[in-house]
Amino acid sequence: MPRPNWKHCLAVAALLLLLAPAARAQADDLDQTTRQLAHDIFKQLIEINTTDSVGSTTVAAEAMAQRLRDAGFPASDVVVLGPNARKGNMVARLRGTGEGTAVHRPILLIGHLDVVEARREDWTTDPFQFVEKDAYYYGRGTQDMKSGDAIWITTLIRLKREGYQPDRDLIVALTADEEGGQSNGVDWLLKNHRDLIDAEFVLNADGGGVDTVKGKPLIVEMDATEKLYADYQLTVTNPGGHSSLPRPDNAIYHLADGLARLERTQFPFELNAVTRAFFERTAGGESRQTAADMRAIITSPPDAAAVARLSADPLWNSTMRTTCVATRLDAGHANNALPQMARANVNCRILPGHTREEVRQKLIHVLADPQIDVAYVNNSGRVLDTAPNAAALPPVSLRPDVMQTLDRVAGEMWPGAPVVPTMSTGASDGVYTNAAGMPTYGISGLAIDTDDVRAHGKDERLGVESYYRGVEFYYRYIMALTRAR
Ligand SMILES: [Zn+2]
Repeated sequence: MPRPNWKHCLAVAALLLLLAPAARAQADDLDQTTRQLAHDIFKQLIEINTTDSVGSTTVAAEAMAQRLRDAGFPASDVVVLGPNARKGNMVARLRGTGEGTAVHRPILLIGHLDVVEARREDWTTDPFQFVEKDAYYYGRGTQDMKSGDAIWITTLIRLKREGYQPDRDLIVALTADEEGGQSNGVDWLLKNHRDLIDAEFVLNADGGGVDTVKGKPLIVEMDATEKLYADYQLTVTNPGGHSSLPRPDNAIYHLADGLARLERTQFPFELNAVTRAFFERTAGGESRQTAADMRAIITSPPDAAAVARLSADPLWNSTMRTTCVATRLDAGHANNALPQMARANVNCRILPGHTREEVRQKLIHVLADPQIDVAYVNNSGRVLDTAPNAAALPPVSLRPDVMQTLDRVAGEMWPGAPVVPTMSTGASDGVYTNAAGMPTYGISGLAIDTDDVRAHGKDERLGVESYYRGVEFYYRYIMALTRAR
């Protein structure tokens, strides 16, 4: 799951806290039958182990398929399929009427079934038991993301039960190996059964979310783009020698001087549709100067003084530009010897639209010392002479139907908390669907306190009422998106 956004939001949250109007308590609109159904599906999913080591997504996929068939979905519209017996994916379709002013292609709803490993001895409760305690549901996957999977299935069954006919097909895909493993289900489905999941756009419940502080909603995040992660290894070698006879060239000084030049260098200011909207929508909750600065950087040309002031804040800075920072240092081999080697790791977060090789070239330019070798370190730790040339995908366009409907429904559910498009620093299954030309929006509908993000951690939990509000949110949102217009 791509959750590192929460820190991002913590800062936003702190600033919005004083300004956000108090959220009105809302009546719980869930009828008892739906509430029970949502509970049972969530419990069932948590208690099926879907870890890569010993679990099976097929068991979970089959269980959800069975529920849909029991609810009246024709067997031909519910399939479980995958590359092997343990990595099954479920795809189900609720047929639309095809009515409305335009012919709409389907909406695809994606969620991963697999969860990160969890050891009983590390947890207070059994991670594969669905435990309700102190107004929370505990269990591996309560945040990431069996809650979202359960919401998809509950919503489909609820719509079916009510005889609701969307104006277009709704497709749900519950998939394998987002967290790890060799059989990513979204990738596999796109390569092998594109027709089953082909859609106009995608909602991914594995992203976004409602940031709350002590239960009070501050912003509704929507993940609309991602930065690209890259590590670079800087190495200087030297014949070395006795430290009583220093030479003019010294590996440590070469590297240190280069790093000092990097420290003083900023990558260029650059906004995209998502970060522009982020500043536009965040400005409303900021102090007067900051708000003015945010408005001054989204004009053309941007106000350089405003850019400089906002750059002092790590959050705004990382939103406006690619960043590269030294994270590790290793040099020398003895106290009384000249260093034969000095090495540093530089970690970069690259704006969408740029490549890792482009940034490597930029580092070489900034370090400005031919003695400093700049190599790329890939995800498996291999050091390579050059970096990949594939650019991070440009941000998805903020479709008016997706955004306006989200603004409206989120406004009903979490009044006073604006919808804020965000740029995530992690990667989700959205990389596959976006690359396949299906714009993907990360929206979870689940409220989590900014200091209670436990995805991948111990004692993962989700507030009981947060879950049911998520169930209600997606019911309303999907209906609003698919009423014939
Ligand atoms: Zn996830």
